[in-house]
Amino acid sequence: NHSNVTRHKVRETLRLFQAVARKILQEVEAKNERARVDLQAAKVLKEKGKYVNEGKQILGHVPGIEVGDEFHYRIELNIVGLHRQTQGGIDYVKHNGKILATSIVASGGYADDLDNSDVLIYTGQGGNVMNSGKEPEDQKLERGNLALKNSNDEQNPVRVIRGADSADGKSKTYVYDGLYLVESVWQDMGPHGKLVYKFRLRRISGQPELPLKELKKSKKFKTREGLCVNDISYGKERIPICAVNVIDDEKPPPFKYITSMIYPDCDLIPAEGCGCINGCSELKCSCVVKHGGEIPYNHNGAIVEIKTLVFECGPSCKCPPTCYNRVSQHGIKFQLEIFKTSTRGWGVRSLNSIPSGSFICEYMGELLEDKEAERRTGNDEYLFDIGNNYTNNPLWDGLSTLMPDAESSSGGVLMDDCGFTIDAAQYGNVGRFINHSCSPNLYAQNVLYDHHDKRMPHIMFFAAENIPPLQELTYDYNYMIDQVRDSDGNIKRKDCYCGSVECIGRMY
Ligand code: SAM
Repeated sequence: NHSNVTRHKVRETLRLFQAVARKILQEVEAKNERARVDLQAAKVLKEKGKYVNEGKQILGHVPGIEVGDEFHYRIELNIVGLHRQTQGGIDYVKHNGKILATSIVASGGYADDLDNSDVLIYTGQGGNVMNSGKEPEDQKLERGNLALKNSNDEQNPVRVIRGADSADGKSKTYVYDGLYLVESVWQDMGPHGKLVYKFRLRRISGQPELPLKELKKSKKFKTREGLCVNDISYGKERIPICAVNVIDDEKPPPFKYITSMIYPDCDLIPAEGCGCINGCSELKCSCVVKHGGEIPYNHNGAIVEIKTLVFECGPSCKCPPTCYNRVSQHGIKFQLEIFKTSTRGWGVRSLNSIPSGSFICEYMGELLEDKEAERRTGNDEYLFDIGNNYTNNPLWDGLSTLMPDAESSSGGVLMDDCGFTIDAAQYGNVGRFINHSCSPNLYAQNVLYDHHDKRMPHIMFFAAENIPPLQELTYDYNYMIDQVRDSDGNIKRKDCYCGSVECIGRMY
């Protein structure tokens, strides 16, 4: 029974898989081993009954999956019931005594024409085309090939998942491209002089466009539609952050762009700093020991799990800038832009695909004592209350039950309302434009590296899931309804326009 599988459930399952995979990778990296972490993580989810859309393969739309969804491990397609074959490019199901294709994964390897984005020419399977060890032979009209041929006869919708290498070529991304119909089937001479099957598929109209298309357009015309500021940081960030507005004539309101926090006139507790000169190892580095002897990041820079407080190595440490325990201090690495929304003012999105766990940006501004912040409540749009951002983050539900060793705290550090607030109204960075959502894709992580004053950690945003290009980046502002008051003590209310199905209607 798939009818009760919701979008929420699918996102939760994928987040969980990604967190389990990072956790296993952390263990594997600590031991300097190599392993298929994707398969191990999938096994954990399988054993705990966390797969969704199980049972007979679904024909057509899969509950909880949306066009544009991105996956970084192929096994994720299986976990959510989008494509079950872990190797084969064509998945199928028996329907009224006949096998029909349910989905195909169009990855490189064959000369598929991926440029014309509504039409896809797909090469059949078999014939030892890919396997150099065996003698090539003609492809047969069996299994996947037969299923696609039958789908041409029956005209049933076939899901297409596009596999593409990431920009750096180091990893693969799978994007769900929606439903297609098989238009024609023919045989052709393959590269080895043997017959191959070819299938022409056409995308069913009326489905959302892939961001890929819009991005290709802006590449072609060398500009973003609605571009109004080339770089809101005016050269202060390594990667320029443009502003686009296709809603009205408004330009982003003025503020002073900063790339480091502004602290009040007080003495910050200095960072102790580790003495590691041969790399920071799990049990020896005095910074890493503060997280119970685990580097909180994978070697690719992804954060493994939420911590009440992360201690990155910093300027007083002996280790080099390439140390794995330094991530968020290195700044923004995705091409971000701010864009005008129709209901929430300006918001932030990325032009790149963002893998789950990636660092996005810091929330920068003036650090104020709460007393001073309260004086500014007339202008409270850009206040971030430190210490209000970690308790029971629902984005991380489930990891500790799946992996009992996973702990979401750091050795004895308890963060509570520490009396400090960041105000990004006058001075700030791109972080000040990130809107609230009731089903967010980012979370705020407390991080220390240049000083060790636990009352005023850096607020660093990380991706809690895979985020496709152009999807708005959001976090949960974590206000409590009916708890926000004005200077006269009256309860303040603000409607939420995040637009998610889980929206509770109010921000506070
Ligand atoms: N949209 C802001 C802008 O244009 O500068 C950037 C975010 S700012 C930190 C917070 C303010 O954005 C809020 O006070 C509210 O006015 C607006 N906002 C953020 N999330 C919202 C949401 N989900 N619904 C309605 N307004 C939102």
